[in-house]
Amino acid sequence: MKAVYTEHHRAHDPSQEVFLGAPIPAREVVQRAGIIRGALLADGGFELVEPVEHGELPILAVHDRGLLRFLETAWSEVRRQAIGRQSLVPDSIPNPAMFEGLSEAARARLREPVAIGGRAGWWGFDTSNPIVAGTYEAARWAVDTALTAVDLVLDGEAMAYGLCRPPGHHAARAMAAGYCFFNNAAIAAEAIVRATGERVAILDVDYHHGNGTQQIFWRRGDVFYASLHGDPSRVYPYFLGYADEIGEGDGAGANLNLPLPPHAGDADYLAALDRALEAIDATPGSIVVVSLGFDTYRDDPLGDFDLTRAAYAEAGRRVASLGRRLVILQEGGYHLPSLGKNAVAWLNGAREADRPPARTIGAA
Ligand SMILES: [Zn+2]
Repeated sequence: MKAVYTEHHRAHDPSQEVFLGAPIPAREVVQRAGIIRGALLADGGFELVEPVEHGELPILAVHDRGLLRFLETAWSEVRRQAIGRQSLVPDSIPNPAMFEGLSEAARARLREPVAIGGRAGWWGFDTSNPIVAGTYEAARWAVDTALTAVDLVLDGEAMAYGLCRPPGHHAARAMAAGYCFFNNAAIAAEAIVRATGERVAILDVDYHHGNGTQQIFWRRGDVFYASLHGDPSRVYPYFLGYADEIGEGDGAGANLNLPLPPHAGDADYLAALDRALEAIDATPGSIVVVSLGFDTYRDDPLGDFDLTRAAYAEAGRRVASLGRRLVILQEGGYHLPSLGKNAVAWLNGAREADRPPARTIGAA
C-alpha cells in the first residue's frame, strides 16, 4: 500500500496544551507520526510517498478564507504584538449566548477583532489546540498529504494511506479545534466529489466525534458521514455527535452518529462498525474516505474504550470488504507505545482483506 508522509509535520511542535485551565504536556506530538512511519517501514508492506503541493483552492472549497488567513498569520501576529508565550491559545471564545437577541443585521456586523487573542477565539473553540510557529506549515502539508492520497486512488490504487499530522476532523468550515486546523478528510472528500461527480462516504472511526466533518457536510446529500465515537455527553466535543443529528435540507439522512458507552469492547465496536458499513453500502459511490483514529485503544489516555489490536485488523478487513476504494487518513491516537502497531494492524487488515475487485470510479 502506498503511504503518503512528509517530515514537514515536525514544524507543528507544541509542548503544552491547556486542559481544564491548566497547562499539561501536549498529546498531539511530533513523535506520533514518526512512530507510525517507523512501524510502516518495519512492516515492509508499505511504500512511502512524498505529498505533492495542491495550493489553497482545495482548502477554500471547504473552509472560510478567514480561517486560512488567520492560521497563516497567527504566529507572526503573536510576535508583532509581543506576546511572550510559547504557543497561542484562546482564552475568550464567543459563546452564542453573548449574541442573544441580536437581529440578523446586527449579527452580520459581528467582526473578527484585531488583537491576536481575540482572533484566536474568533476562529477557535477550545484551549487544547495550541498554535506554534510551524503550525500553518504542518497543517498545509497535512492537507497535501490527504490530497496526494486522493490522487493515488483516483489514479487507480485500490487504497492509499495519508499519514496526516496534524489531524483534521474537529475543524469546521470556519473553526479550528481539538488538535485540528484544516479538515483533511473533508477537503479530500470534496476533492473527490469535484473530480468524479460521484457521491462520497466518510467513515470516521476516531474515538471522538468528527464535529467539523459533520458541520461541513450537514446540508449536503452528496457526502455521507458516518461516525463511531464516545458519547459526547461525556467526552469532547461535547456539543455535537448525538444520534439524533441526521443532517438537514439536502443532507437529511446523510449523517449517521453512533455514540458508544464507556468501556465499549471489540464486539460492541465491530457491531457499530457493521451498522455504519451497511449504511455506506446503501449509498452510491466508489470511494470511501476513512478518518482513522486509534484513541479507541484500551490504553489510550484520551479515550475510554477497551479495544484490542485484534479489533483493528478486523475493522480494516471489514471496511475493505465493502469493495470500495479507500482514502485512509490519520486522525487521533495518543498511546505512543501502541500507535504504530495498531496502525499497521488496521492497514494490513484492509490490505490483505479478501475483497471484491475495487469499484470502477464513475461506474457506481
Ligand atoms: Zn480523537
